[in-house]
This record gives sequence, C-alpha cells and structure tokens, in this order.
Amino acid sequence: MTRTLRQPAEIIAAGLAPPGRAAEIAAVARRYAVAITPDMAKLITGDAAGDPIARQFVPQAQELATAPEDLADPIGDHAFSPVKGIVHRYPDRVLLMPHHACAVYCRFCFRREDVGPQGESLNRAELAAALDYIRARPEIWEVILTGGDPLLLSPRRIAAIVRALDAIPHLGVIRFHTRLPIVEPKRIGAALVKALAAAKAVYVVIHANHPRELTPQARAACARLVRAGIPLLSQSVLLRGVNDDAAILAALFRGLVAMRVKPYYLHHPDLAPGTGHFRLSLGEGQALMRRLRGRVSGLCQPNYVLDLPGGHGKVPVGPCYAEPDEEAGSWRIEDLAGRRHDYPPRGEV
Ligand code: SF4
Repeated sequence: MTRTLRQPAEIIAAGLAPPGRAAEIAAVARRYAVAITPDMAKLITGDAAGDPIARQFVPQAQELATAPEDLADPIGDHAFSPVKGIVHRYPDRVLLMPHHACAVYCRFCFRREDVGPQGESLNRAELAAALDYIRARPEIWEVILTGGDPLLLSPRRIAAIVRALDAIPHLGVIRFHTRLPIVEPKRIGAALVKALAAAKAVYVVIHANHPRELTPQARAACARLVRAGIPLLSQSVLLRGVNDDAAILAALFRGLVAMRVKPYYLHHPDLAPGTGHFRLSLGEGQALMRRLRGRVSGLCQPNYVLDLPGGHGKVPVGPCYAEPDEEAGSWRIEDLAGRRHDYPPRGEV
C-alpha cells in the first residue's frame, strides 16, 4: 500500500474492513472526512470493533448516531474567532488555523465538523489579516498553529508563516500541533525541519494515542525534529477501546518519553457529534490516572484535562490527593497506596 486510503472501496480492498461493512463505511464517509495513511493502515490487524488503530481511523456506523449531549462545536471555537483563522480564548495565546486538511481523519476528532479535504485554507489576504490581528495585540505571547494539520502545508508556506511570527516582537513561543510525525513520518523531511527554524522558541506537540503508533519511522521523524533543537510535547485523547487501560497508557507515555517527547495533555474526549462510543466517564478517567501515579515516572504523567463546552477553556480534571481538614487547620493527603496522612504530621510519621 503506497497511498492514503480515502474511498470506502479502497478500505475494503485493503482488508481493513470486511466487504459486508461497505455500505456502513460509505454512509459515514458521506457525512465525515475519511483518510488512512499507509503507515497507519499497516498497523491495523483487526476490525474497528477490536483493533485500537482501526477504531481510530476506520469509519463505524455509531458515528451516525448523535446523542443529546453532542455538540457541533464542542469546545466553542466559533464564538471566540474574531477573524477568520484565529481563535482567541485565553488572553496570552491564540490559535492560528491556516487550513483544515489532515493526513488522517480521526473518527473521534473534536473538529470533525470543520476538518476535511474540502475545508477552506486561508487565502493570502486572510492570512495577512490573521497575522495583523496578532501583531496588533501585545498581550499575545504564544501562537498555536493547528487546524487541520499545519505541517501538511508546503515547507515554503510553513517557513513564510514562521518568519512572519518570528518577526513579531511580543511573541515568545510558536507552537505547532500535528499528527504528521506519527501518521506519515516520512513527511518530516529536511526541508520541513528547516522551515521550522526561528530565533524564537518553536515547540511541536505531536498527537499519539496508542503505543503501537510509536513505530521506528515515527521515532526517526521525532529524532529529526529533536536534532534540530525543537522541544517535543505530546497530546493524547482518552478513548474507549483504544487506550482506556492503565498498562496501555503507561506504555504510550513511557514510549513517548523515551523518544524525548514529554507527555503534555491527556484529553478527556470531547462531545463531538457521533463520538459517544469513544467516551468514558470522568470517574473512569480519574481511576486510570490514579493507577498511573506511582506506576510510571513523573516524566510520563500528562495533565488530564477537559475542554469545557462553550469555550470556557481547559480545566485539569485529574484526581485530587489533598483535602483541607478545616477543624484541625491542616490537610489530609492521600499516598500512593490510598492511605491518608495528616499534613503537617500530628504524631509519629
Ligand atoms: S489529526 Fe487532529 S485535527 Fe485532524 S482529524 Fe485527527 S484529531 Fe482531528
């Protein structure tokens, strides 16, 4: 297999789903974008019900079922978009979305109503207006390029955007969010790495959800970025049937750290339409985080976060290990074994 699978017939012909699922896959493909790169197709060893990679990329009938809590704009991007291509939710940072295409289309994507090959890119004037918005606001310290996958742009266009941002005095950080080093690692070539060079700090945040995605090719792509001096972070989405298991999460986060990628966020799944089959409860997510604490190094612990609907922002929702004892004027702290201790200690420790 040498090219990205986009058509239902190609997915069936590649053996990623049985012929009996052709109509179901076609019905989903009429509603949401579909793309599976050869690198990800190669990793699929079972059907979408049981294989964690197939589940992320091969369409399933459940996507056509919407639940009452589903939201077309689950994290409220649209309400915070003052000009096309910009989302300005927090005072000191903006999202810059130069286009809406991705190398793969994840079945759980929180921007699934916006991303796709037909999604509009910013034209030259719109990109200039978005950059002017950033230039005019000295309170903006960080620009996060996302979308869509910003690293799918040509190295020439990426370099032009990086140069323009690098020249804005009040910016401290240029951050790229991308799935490309994982899902199509060969695209992280010398020209693209060079396009990311800047005087300011450029961070790359990669998206990976299962340790099987950390292939030798993905490791090599990340190594090319690290060798260029680019700090790497990761974000993962907690997904039922993909990584809702402490051993899998531990393997994922350890694998990332061993690739010099610091796990940054574990996202609670958003209320994107037709993604209810991926969702866990917050209680289940907290229980998984509790099982990770102590099991793996602190380096391997991401922040477990929920992006609140309505654009109210990200909130850490991990378990809490400390509660005040108002009467005693001290704290009750839970250790790794679940035992509670007074802090400061009242008697012998
Ligand atoms: S790569 Fe990111 S933006 Fe693109 S479909 Fe997947 S989750 Fe959505």
